[in-house]
Amino acid sequence: MTVLGGMEEIAVRRWIAGRKLEDAVAAVKELNAKGMDGIINHLGEKVVYRAHARAAVKASMDIIDAIKLNKLGADIAVKLTDLGLNMDVAFCSKNYNDVARYAKSKGVFVWIDMEECGFVDDTIKIYSSMVKSGNVGICIQSYLKRSIDDVRKLDRKAVIRLVKGAYADRAGGFRTRRQATGNYVLLMDYIFRNFGRFTIATHDSSLIDIALKMNRKYRRDVTYAMLRGVRSNYALELARKGEKVAVYVPFGEDILGYAYRRLKELSNLKLIARSILGGR
Ligand SMILES: Cc1cc2nc3c(=O)[nH]c(=O)nc-3n(C[C@H](O)[C@H](O)[C@H](O)COP(=O)(O)OP(=O)(O)OC[C@H]3O[C@@H](n4cnc5c(N)ncnc54)[C@H](O)[C@@H]3O)c2cc1C
Repeated sequence: MTVLGGMEEIAVRRWIAGRKLEDAVAAVKELNAKGMDGIINHLGEKVVYRAHARAAVKASMDIIDAIKLNKLGADIAVKLTDLGLNMDVAFCSKNYNDVARYAKSKGVFVWIDMEECGFVDDTIKIYSSMVKSGNVGICIQSYLKRSIDDVRKLDRKAVIRLVKGAYADRAGGFRTRRQATGNYVLLMDYIFRNFGRFTIATHDSSLIDIALKMNRKYRRDVTYAMLRGVRSNYALELARKGEKVAVYVPFGEDILGYAYRRLKELSNLKLIARSILGGR
């Protein structure tokens, strides 16, 4: 973590459980004790060697074993570029299928994280090949204009985790956070009407309030998910009110991509706060 400066290091420690799988296991045990689930992710993305993608498959299987062995209330999340998507789609698809089948044999649920817009088509295709297995879910990003069409085309057995999106796309993305938030509401409305089980992944309490209200009407199996180290008290408050809550718990050595996305969000929030307070 020394590549980052002092303040950043503190922030990163907050967002990431540690370097080892046992750090993530300990973090999830704490969550479980407070009535929340974990979503464990072994950090890694955009590998360029097949051996690294194979190591990521092994790391995913180790997480699945640890979930089973420790009887954790936890899912696993994978990034397809960690399984080789940017090298060879067929190779990645096989790697993902291996992880999903192994997870199924152990009764563990596997999420696919969604990455940059250039990977969305292949990610949906690969996910769709396994959707009927019942133990797999996919992340959908509201900042992308295409997402409503993507969701309409998904099999009704799909399990969606809806996020605003941690990436940018000049051509296919909404320009402002406000527009991405508006599209989030539109997507939620569609998902509530058409899917039975899904996850609302945001720290935005205005969106969570809308979801809670929608669910009084639709009575779906909804989980509210947040990232480790972000609005933890709010997550706990929701769990104490009886809502299903899950916290995304990353661990590992490859922290830069993840840390960069979180730092960017933090600086956006600081800018918003400054503009509200009238500062520069
Ligand atoms: C479980 C989970 C899984 C995710 N998976 C993916 C994925 O696969 N692909 C992807 O592109 N993105 C993913 N994301 C990230 C997501 O896309 C957003 O970048 C991130 O959640 C911030 O957006 P927001 O919805 O919280 O709203 P924002 O508009 O960023 O924030 C809304 C409000 O939340 C609060 N808040 C937000 N961040 C902070 C913070 N750091 N500290 C304090 N308060 C804060 C503030 O009150 C803020 O006004 C995931 C997020 C979660 C929670």
